[in-house]
Amino acid sequence: MWWVILIGLAGTAAAIVVAGRRVLFLYKLAKSGQPAPERVASVRRDPKADVEGQVVEVFGQRKLLKWTVAGLAHFFVMWAFILLITVYLEAYGALLLGLDFHIPLIGRWPVVGFIQDFIAVMCLLGLATFTAIRIKNSPKRLDRQSRFKGSHTGGAWLILFMIFNGIWTLFFFRGVSSAAGHFPYKSGAFVSIGVGKLLNGLSAGTLDILEKIGLLMHIGVALVFLVIVVNSKHLHIFLAPVNVMFKRRPDGLGAVQPMRSDGKILDFEEADPDVDTFGRGKIEDFTWKGLLDMATCTECGRCQSQCPAWNTGKPLSPKMLILELRDHAFAKAPYILAANDEERAKLPASVIAEAERPLVGGADVNGVIDPDVLWSCTNCGACVEQCPVDIEHIDHILDMRRFQVMIESSFPSEAGVMLKNLENKGTPWGMSEMKRLEWIEELDFEVEVVDEKMPADTEYLFWVGCAGALEDRAKKTTKAVAELLHIAGVKFAVLGPAEACTGDPARRLGMEFVFQMLGQQNVETLNEAGVKKIVATCPHCFNTLANEYPQLGGTYEVVHHTQLLSHLVETGKLVPVGRIEENITYHDPCFLGRHNKVYSQPRDIMAKVPGVKTQEMHRCKERGFCCGAGGARMWMEERIGKRINTERVDEALETNPDTVSTACPFCLVMLGDAINEKKNSGEAKESLEVLDVSQLLLRSIKDTPVAAE
Ligand code: SF4
Ligand code: SF4
Repeated sequence: MWWVILIGLAGTAAAIVVAGRRVLFLYKLAKSGQPAPERVASVRRDPKADVEGQVVEVFGQRKLLKWTVAGLAHFFVMWAFILLITVYLEAYGALLLGLDFHIPLIGRWPVVGFIQDFIAVMCLLGLATFTAIRIKNSPKRLDRQSRFKGSHTGGAWLILFMIFNGIWTLFFFRGVSSAAGHFPYKSGAFVSIGVGKLLNGLSAGTLDILEKIGLLMHIGVALVFLVIVVNSKHLHIFLAPVNVMFKRRPDGLGAVQPMRSDGKILDFEEADPDVDTFGRGKIEDFTWKGLLDMATCTECGRCQSQCPAWNTGKPLSPKMLILELRDHAFAKAPYILAANDEERAKLPASVIAEAERPLVGGADVNGVIDPDVLWSCTNCGACVEQCPVDIEHIDHILDMRRFQVMIESSFPSEAGVMLKNLENKGTPWGMSEMKRLEWIEELDFEVEVVDEKMPADTEYLFWVGCAGALEDRAKKTTKAVAELLHIAGVKFAVLGPAEACTGDPARRLGMEFVFQMLGQQNVETLNEAGVKKIVATCPHCFNTLANEYPQLGGTYEVVHHTQLLSHLVETGKLVPVGRIEENITYHDPCFLGRHNKVYSQPRDIMAKVPGVKTQEMHRCKERGFCCGAGGARMWMEERIGKRINTERVDEALETNPDTVSTACPFCLVMLGDAINEKKNSGEAKESLEVLDVSQLLLRSIKDTPVAAE
């Protein structure tokens, strides 16, 4: 037996040294990132949420199980990794303490043997499923449609092969052990005992040799696997729980994070671009959490498969963005980790060349991330929503945009007009603030305009938003909501000319300074007026007011108009009576749905309108498809690929709707434009219209058409 122990221990020591060196390298690289004390603080503040996260996301595989077949396969393979640790405990026990070793106390229970064999069989089935999915989704066969396009599939095949080796050597070792009479389970371990029966006729000497070889092979596979894993994308096996632990709570959607330098929130009155980190201008500017995100990516491509930019032929794939950052971080690592310039000068030319690459730049300067990739993002959140290991793509994209905009002054020129308008007029369209009152004049009832203080008997401040006040189509929603609140007897007031843009387009573009300026101005107005409750029609305003203004000292109870209207219908304050015999499909606005989880209320309202038949598009709710306007894309030209709004309307047309409904002024405009084009080309019927849910409700309540005005 001594030679078995020698080989086993020598192999284990070698694997630990090789894998340990790699782990040390990864640790040093992650540590070289900027600090992120808020992540540690949030774990300390709410350890319960962390335990829940681990249970639901890691052990429960919540996100993966939404992809039923692949999710189920992954569920069993992941649990095999956990449960089969007991088999390795037995294997090392057999190596060091004798072949008839068993785990103390539970080591002879048939149920333990059954669980081990059962999960190993399910793991094999999982591997077979993965193999079939990978063949079906082969990048070569399906090209851009494949979620694996751009993934390192060779490494994935190697990992599948190694897991397969782990399982068959498990059954081989346990089978021989059973035949040799050393196996601790006399029943329960149905496969291992079955294999043992097949080997029953072999001599004791042969079984002895086979058992030792089986033991070494089973241990050897695990050691090789360990070395491969720490050098491959399968690092996620170890890193996923850590990444989930330090994720943003509740997720990486909703609020944009404040700008931080060296772990502290930047104060723009004192910030100095020569000293402080403004966004991410080089890979070292990312926090350790950012670097952890990169190393944790499993290359599964779920984010890519849902990304509206990727699905309409643009160069942005959230997966490839993360992989390109990761590959760059690894390639530049010797430069980053070098102790001083002298050491750096000795590095190979390839490392120096990598270190000199700009983080964002076109092919002419060999940039890591192409500007067309960076500016294609609509911030729709589909990537973050889908990612099974909670990578926070939007945060990274916005941080890179911040550096480009604030330090390099490099961004699509069209967006510059919007920024100037925001700075000078407080609205992206640059209209005078008095124009914000015009929609009120078109109503046949009075609307209270706040004069410094909210009137005492007024419940809600109606945040109208720039589009709602100034854009003709969105104004119809504003008037419909005002009229519905008036009918329901809800007391509300508006800020009128005192309202400025929330700053969302500036922030999503990366111009944090303008966001701060507008945000502080609005928070001051709201706080001085004594506002407590706000209703907003624009999901972008809603998101900023509810989730981002607390960063600026403005904390309010904010609802979207669909939430309030749904409540008013539910409580009988609004009663839809007129029948609307129409086929309606609802488009989920990303900033209402994914970013703020408001999916049911708009649907609840439509369900209460007599006659309405609703039909979902195939991409809806959490998997809804963007209209193309978010992330300040509303103010940029869409020059590459198919227009996102056209793609979405094509999908809507598949449901043969009479009306496309939505709950966002931007979606209303984007979908409306695409529908008009479809009408001009004869692909959509003339009567097709896009309406806000509130317009439909008002139409039913008044029993008269609203949109036809
Ligand atoms: S936020 Fe949306 S557009 Fe941006 S990368 Fe993610 S999925 Fe693509
Ligand atoms: S970022 Fe997340 S969803 Fe996208 S490929 Fe990586 S692990 Fe998969």
